[in-house]
Amino acid sequence: MTDILVLVDHSNGSVKKTTLELLSLARRLGEPTAVFLGRGIDKASAVLTEFGAAKIFVSDDSAYDEFLVSPAVDALTQIATQVAPRAILASSSADGKEIAARTALRLDSGIITDAVEVTDDLVVQQNAFAAAFIVQSRVTRGIPVITFKPNSVTPSPAPAAGEISPVQIAFGDASSAPRVTDVVVRAKSGRPELAEAEIVVSGGRGLGSADGFGVIESLADALGAAVGASRAATDAGWYPHAFQVGQTGKSVSPQLYVAAGISGAIQHRAGMQTSKTIVAVNKDAEAPIFELVDFGVVGDLFDVIPQCTQEVNRRKG
Ligand code: FAD
Repeated sequence: MTDILVLVDHSNGSVKKTTLELLSLARRLGEPTAVFLGRGIDKASAVLTEFGAAKIFVSDDSAYDEFLVSPAVDALTQIATQVAPRAILASSSADGKEIAARTALRLDSGIITDAVEVTDDLVVQQNAFAAAFIVQSRVTRGIPVITFKPNSVTPSPAPAAGEISPVQIAFGDASSAPRVTDVVVRAKSGRPELAEAEIVVSGGRGLGSADGFGVIESLADALGAAVGASRAATDAGWYPHAFQVGQTGKSVSPQLYVAAGISGAIQHRAGMQTSKTIVAVNKDAEAPIFELVDFGVVGDLFDVIPQCTQEVNRRKG
């Protein structure tokens, strides 16, 4: 069976859900072969094996922590050259896309980013122009390198051998040029990461103030969701820019997206239109957001959202 290389996205061995999604996709295309770079394989190997990694290439060099993405590009290129996989999959995170693009360049291969689906014969689907178009394409040169958006597929376990193969990587001079000088861990909210969350509850200008986000956070916590915001809300300083959804913010594609007090401008839609189920609460029945919702509530969000939170909590018992 041909190898499908999956670049593992992890933090000290805590494997991100996007990697489990990639392994689930890879199983359809060939034999999933994980590439684990950095520290923490002891912690990561069980979950990689559980989700289908037949082999795991491991390079635990400290270079992956000390420098930016270049050492990972060296590693992925060298492993791909040795293995000659059918395809290389990475997640559509900032690092994932940069590593994938540089690796494709070194391998003289084609790359497709932000994929949402792939067929058995490697035809890749992307959503373009705020998901107004579905694009299908195929890499025609070299080893296809494909990055996938989070939540493109539901990860499912399928235990495999998980045979660990340590590899020695020869790092190029350029790898040690940009050095990481400091890492500051941001205070955790306890909520899921916005781009990966299965449920997102977002608030907009309709909240009226930073305090207004309290109702959004309460519903998000009841649902185990991430909080998002429109640009109007982040520009007003009511919520941090890191939580902005849209063309110039994060792209999300959760199972459920709740938009409260958001009008539905095209730049906001660009970041959430591919959500599986969209619910909006807006007091203006003519708001454009209602054009794309699965469920819409015309009403005051300060009336509707707390009732929703109360009902979710009641049903959770
Ligand atoms: P508004 O458009 O002002 O809508 C507020 C809504 O709240 C209204 O529909 C109103 O009826 C409703 N409302 C008010 N009070 C209540 C209440 N009590 N209960 C219920 N509903 C209520 N925007 C983004 O979001 N993300 C981006 O990434 C982004 N990038 C941009 C890039 C460019 C280059 C440009 C030009 C713009 C960008 N924008 C982006 C801005 C975008 O055009 C809109 O201005 C913005 O999305 C509007 O935010 P909003 O929906 O919160 O505010």
